[in-house]
Amino acid sequence: MSTDLAIVGGGIGGAALALTMARAGAHVLLLEKSTAYEDRVRGEWIAPWGVTETQRLGIYDLLRAAGGHHLASHTTYDESRDPADSEARTMPLDMFAPGVPGPLCLGHPRHCQLLFDAAVAAGAEALRGVEVEAVELGARPRVTFTHAGVRRTVEARLVIGAEGRQSLVRDAAGVALHQDAPHHWFAGLLVDGVTGWDVSRQAIGTEGDFGFLAFPQGGDRVRVYGGYALAEKGRFTGPDGARRFLDAFRMRSAPANEAIAAGAPAGPLFSYFNNDSWTDEPFAPGAVLIGDAAGWNDPINGLGLSITYRDVRIVSDILKATAAGAAPDFRPYAEERAERMRRLRFAGQLQAALDMEFGAAASARRRSYHARSAADPTLGLHGVAILAGPEAAPADIFTQAHRERVLAG
Ligand SMILES: Cc1cc2nc3c(=O)[nH]c(=O)nc-3n(C[C@H](O)[C@H](O)[C@H](O)COP(=O)(O)OP(=O)(O)OC[C@H]3O[C@@H](n4cnc5c(N)ncnc54)[C@H](O)[C@@H]3O)c2cc1C
Repeated sequence: MSTDLAIVGGGIGGAALALTMARAGAHVLLLEKSTAYEDRVRGEWIAPWGVTETQRLGIYDLLRAAGGHHLASHTTYDESRDPADSEARTMPLDMFAPGVPGPLCLGHPRHCQLLFDAAVAAGAEALRGVEVEAVELGARPRVTFTHAGVRRTVEARLVIGAEGRQSLVRDAAGVALHQDAPHHWFAGLLVDGVTGWDVSRQAIGTEGDFGFLAFPQGGDRVRVYGGYALAEKGRFTGPDGARRFLDAFRMRSAPANEAIAAGAPAGPLFSYFNNDSWTDEPFAPGAVLIGDAAGWNDPINGLGLSITYRDVRIVSDILKATAAGAAPDFRPYAEERAERMRRLRFAGQLQAALDMEFGAAASARRRSYHARSAADPTLGLHGVAILAGPEAAPADIFTQAHRERVLAG
């Protein structure tokens, strides 16, 4: 058997590319390992610039119809500030991308299933419970896999690696993954029964030895994350770990968090160490990598979905523009992605240094930053890269000089 595209991994990236290319008339084989999408504590918040990417791909209406929930405002709390003062500085989120009311939230398993089903409806052959055994690249790319007890080898014009952080296709392509050092632990939990929290307002904040992020998902459900020092590996392990995690949200400087602490866990509590990774060239003869397989941004920025949707848009545009029988030229994708990830890595490292470092010196630095950025908004321009896209902030923001200005004091 042969196909135009063999896509390994049917998460957001793989399923969105399968949908886009099936709509364009390509023969697509989508191979997904899992038999059901589960809560793995993955992205449920799409930045405004990522929402624009879903609009450009013709996927946005699907996400909205499936319950995609827009957020309208953002509050940053901090131990150095009175809560009323923090809330008075609440920022509207409708100004970062034209025609986008704010970030969009949708449960990750539901999001994956939606794209998978849409890809099938558009004509892709999509298989679940697949065990990929071998990936051969070069002039005659091939994928060997077992599905429903049957072993098959499929020839493809191109193999796409979309399997997330651990990528067989990346290994087969000989593409090296660079990673920077872990910065902090980051745990996430879905919480139900959160009453009294404004469902259109997201918030972050740091107090003592804990930094939090909260993203309402609609109704009384909120996705929360908490960051803590690398030395505290086992802080939220054990049978009452989720309870202790929710208790950490009780903060003098963010009294609204009481509603989160009073909620009930609605999924697993998983912890990851946060860092960045990247590849020099996310392609090789016969293969291209998208999404986390090509390198990921520190989840403190919450940009993996936006990055992945942009990958899908650029790669699918290249494929659609490639003449039948010709080899696609992914160099423009590699160039754009390298600069995009460099800028987002910078923004992530700065955000992590500000929000996820603890102790007296870090606290004093945050206090100084909040005071100075209220008077000089250019200090916060790296945040524009997160919300409006890495190309939206001036180039001189992504420099050591800007970092020193932000972290001074
Ligand atoms: C704690 C945490 C919080 C995050 N929060 C956010 C957020 O709020 N917003 C945001 O934008 N991003 C967030 N992210 C990042 C985001 O979840 C990822 O960047 C995004 O899911 C990447 O999509 P993907 O399709 O590349 O990979 P994945 O979502 O990892 O999907 C890969 C798919 O491939 C399948 N697969 C794996 N191996 C194989 C194989 N060998 N054969 C076949 N199939 C395979 C998997 O089952 C899976 O379905 C977060 C990440 C973490 C860790």
